[in-house]
Order: sequence, then structure tokens, then C-alpha cells
Amino acid sequence: MKHSPNSQNAKNVASINDQTLFKLNTDAILIIDHVGIIQNGNAASEKISGYSLNELKNQSFLTFIENKEQAKACFANMMKGIMSETRIQLLHKSGKQINCLVKCIPINESDFKNGLYLILKDLSMYDSLISKYRQSELNFQIIAENVQDVIILMNQQRQYLYVSPSIQQMFGLDSQTVEKLLQKDPFYYNHPEYTELLEQSYIEARKTGNPFRIIIKILHKEKGWVWTEVKGTPVFDDENNFRQMVLVVSDISAQKEKQDQLEYYAYHDPLTGLPNRRYFEKCLTECIEKLNLKGQTFSLILFDIDDFKKINDSWGHEIGDQVIQEVANRTQHVVVEQGIAARLGGDEFIVLLYNCHAEEEVKEVIHKLQNELLKEIVTEKKTIEITNSIGATICRKKHMSETYYFKSADVALYEVKQKGKNQYHINYS
Ligand code: GH3
Ligand code: MG
Repeated sequence: MKHSPNSQNAKNVASINDQTLFKLNTDAILIIDHVGIIQNGNAASEKISGYSLNELKNQSFLTFIENKEQAKACFANMMKGIMSETRIQLLHKSGKQINCLVKCIPINESDFKNGLYLILKDLSMYDSLISKYRQSELNFQIIAENVQDVIILMNQQRQYLYVSPSIQQMFGLDSQTVEKLLQKDPFYYNHPEYTELLEQSYIEARKTGNPFRIIIKILHKEKGWVWTEVKGTPVFDDENNFRQMVLVVSDISAQKEKQDQLEYYAYHDPLTGLPNRRYFEKCLTECIEKLNLKGQTFSLILFDIDDFKKINDSWGHEIGDQVIQEVANRTQHVVVEQGIAARLGGDEFIVLLYNCHAEEEVKEVIHKLQNELLKEIVTEKKTIEITNSIGATICRKKHMSETYYFKSADVALYEVKQKGKNQYHINYS
């Protein structure tokens, strides 16, 4: 329904039309009379509505508003001088709704009857930014709350800015304990053995800007110390000032257990559980280093079961295995305090005696070994007696290779086998 312009307002409109503030304002400005009829508008009002000024003029501003009841109430308030900013949906000519913030100012300061300026700010861009921000916040929340790792954000003072809820699951804590934990020293729950490493890594990352990755133990309420990997990434602002540290903590206990197991299998004989050849070689290298550096001599006792093939042939491989296992147990028991025993393979074993240089000491261990190994071995099928041939070497010469010392013991063993077995021979190397 068209209304004819109020003449008083028309004068006011004319006086305002020339003002740049009105004309060039990027916000839409509509001039409406005391009953809400549009008298005039600026270029931005044409742009925001999609209507030409002629189409807008003499129409009630409510025509262009989606939520008319709310706009009416707002208009009534405005006329009473209550000037609050209100959000409205403007109806664009295309049918699209545009979110606007509407503000009104009386044309004549003291008299609302002269009409109002309606200033409409297009909020589409702000709304889209807010929605993008909310979406990204939501995305972050989804990620942080659903990863199994614990995500921690710390400020420069090492205060917690954020700790993801997965901390409860990872360390068996309830939410109250987590609250308390966040008030405490930042690295409170770490094993004290790793505090220094964590501190140093933190300081270094802050200084250099490089991320760090360390493996430390952290206390789990029920499980005790659990192995965790901590990845720290320092965050700097545009002026290169350190601002935050992002820490990602992962529980690697299962992985570590597997790794330890693999390491165990790599260094142990599966049949007897004794250290294997590789482990023995590592220990031998260490002993050679000590001999070279400190002159600390050591000895090797190499032995092999006599006529073991006969046991296999007569009683089967399984009984043979049981004999090997028993020999391993007894050997381990004899030398446990003086050195290590390893199974080199088949029916061949070696003993490494640390810090042993006198022939008497070596003989004493050999006698003990012989005593133990000559005792009957009770297997599932049969009680078996065995003898062993033993070749030993006392290692005193510095700067020789692993093979040199080993060969010396091997030659001693070979001599015993040649001489008729069940004896021992000691060499010096
Ligand atoms: P010698 O008196 O000269 O030492 O001869 P031997 O019969 O003891 O035979 P030798 O030491 O030369 O070889 C060891 C044999 O042990 C060879 C192989 O058949 C057997 N053997 C190797 N590994 C295993 C094992 O894991 N279990 C069993 N039961 N037998 C094995
Ligand atoms: Mg043998």
C-alpha cells in the first residue's frame, strides 16, 4: 500500500540528500516517517535490498522485513525513544534474506514525529566469519576430544591453557584429579628420572624453535609408570616471541613392550632362555674394552656335550631338548655371580667370567660346572648322564680381536675332544 510523503519530512529529506555521510555511507540508510513509510534511502540501501530507490520510496519499511512482528515492536520502541540495536532479516528483491543490524536515529533530535534514519548494517560477512570460526572451533573440539593422544597447550609461564579430556583415559584419572593436576607444577606426574630431559627439551625447543620428541615415563593411577612419547612444538607470534608450547602425549607402553620383547628374542635363545651368541659377542666386546682401557682380564669357558647326537638318536629330539635346557639351567646357576652363560647353538655353551685372571679361579668354576653337569638329568622318558668337553682361555693380551680370544678357547676345546672328551684344557690368550 503506497503512502504519500509527509511534506515536513520531504523538506528534511531534501536537506539531508546532499550530505555525503548519507550518500556515501557503506551502510544502508533509509529515512522513514513517523509511521514507518520510507521517504528516501542512500545508494547502499538500493544495493542491500536489490530495489531501486523509486521502488523503496513510499513503502512501509516493514514490507522489506522478514520478521515483521519483531520489527514492529522495535519500531514502536524507537518511536518511544528506546534506541536499541536490533537484528533483523531484510528481504532482498531476489527473495534472499539478509541478516542486518538495524539502528535508528531521530531526524530531529527532540521530536520523533519528524521521522527516523534507519541504518542497516549488512551482517552477512560477519555471520559467515563467525560461523567459520565456530565451525573451526567445533572441528578442533572434535579432534581434541576424540584423539587418544593427550593434547596440551601451555603458555609462556607453563600454565595449562588446554588439556584434552583423553588425559583421564590415558592416566586413569577422574575429572577432579585432572582439575587439581592442572593447578600443580606442569610436569608433576612425570617420573623424576626424566624431569631433566623434559626441562632441557622444553628450553631447547623454546630457544631454537625446533620441535622435540622424547620418550619418558608418566604415572598412571592404577598401572604405575607407563611409557609415553611426548612431542613438543613451540609456537611463536609474528614478532618471533615464544607464545605457547603444544604437547602431544601418546601412550606407547604396548609398543615398548613389543619392542622389549623383540629385543629379548634378538638376544636370547628361545629353547633355554639363555643369552645367545649375539648377546655374548656384545659382552665380549665390552670385556675387551675394559681389558684395553683398565687392564681388567677376563676368561672364557667354552664347552660342548659329548656324544650328544646319541641322545637324540636314542631318545628323540624332544629328550635332547630337555637335556639342553637342563644343562643351560645348571650352567646359569653356577656362573650367575661371576659372569654370564650363553648358548652358542646346538650343544655348545660359553661362559664369560668377568674380572677373572687366575688359573685357579677358572679351574674352580670348571670343577663346579663339571660337578653339576655330571649329575643325572631326569627327562620325561629317561634319566640321562652326560659328560662335557671344556676348553677355556684366560684373556690377558690387550688390543686383540673378539675372534682371537674365542679361537683360543675353541682350540682348547678341540684339543680335549681330540684327547678323548670329558676333560678340560686351559689356554692363555
Ligand atoms: P661331540 O662329542 O664331538 O661333541 O659330538 P656330538 O654327538 O655331541 O655332536 P656335535 O656336538 O658335533 O653336534 C651337536 C648335535 O646336536 C648336532 C645336532 O644334531 C644336535 N642339535 C643341535 N641343535 C639341537 C637342538 O636344538 N635340539 C636337539 N635336540 N639337538 C640339537
Ligand atoms: Mg657335542
